[in-house]
Amino acid sequence: MTCLICRNNTSSKRSFTKLLLLKESNSKLCQNCRNEFMKIEEAHCPNCYKNGAATTCADCQLWFQKGKTVHHQALYQYNEAMKSYIKTYKFSGDYLLREIFASEIKRVLRPFERSHQLIPIPLSQKNFETRGFNQVTGFLDAAGIKYSDILDKKETEKQSSKTRKERLKAAQPFSIKESAALEKKVIIIDDIYTTGATIQLATEILENAGAQEILSFSLAR
Ligand SMILES: [Zn+2]
Ligand SMILES: [Zn+2]
Repeated sequence: MTCLICRNNTSSKRSFTKLLLLKESNSKLCQNCRNEFMKIEEAHCPNCYKNGAATTCADCQLWFQKGKTVHHQALYQYNEAMKSYIKTYKFSGDYLLREIFASEIKRVLRPFERSHQLIPIPLSQKNFETRGFNQVTGFLDAAGIKYSDILDKKETEKQSSKTRKERLKAAQPFSIKESAALEKKVIIIDDIYTTGATIQLATEILENAGAQEILSFSLAR
């Protein structure tokens, strides 16, 4: 099989035994590419899963000062490999790339399916049209996880063109779709958690609409 990232062969010796054992599902990436992705370690911020800090991280402290709460969980560190993976996945629209982390996402989110409403962070209409798909619902579809696509996002300036300060006080881009049913316990799903600003904005909308327990999850932090 060809590695979905570097396009090299995932195994130099594809034995017949391997085929019989259906090992192929584990070989979407070659070992070299697989090794580039770093799981979030045991020592992480207890609130947002920032790697390395076993106590509340600086980002969370800022939110707490503003009276906000953070209940976030993530799987991988946002390192160079993850950065380039997400970029390729988002902008090449490569359908197969959504499969790479599907089983891990499923493992984390499956226990929430019954107790919580899973709400993906949406794209603006314009971005959706350019890209053709939402990378977050792409992950969830690949993982076979049920979700409620109840948020809308209006067009805003590119996050990356703003400074951290500007990002943190960004205007509310989210709204709840008309006729959407919101449950009391929800979990907001995104691809990357950077400062937490996106999750806080979505939280604000859901809280105002009556959600009582709001958790969040991202592939990378
Ligand atoms: Zn590779
Ligand atoms: Zn934190």
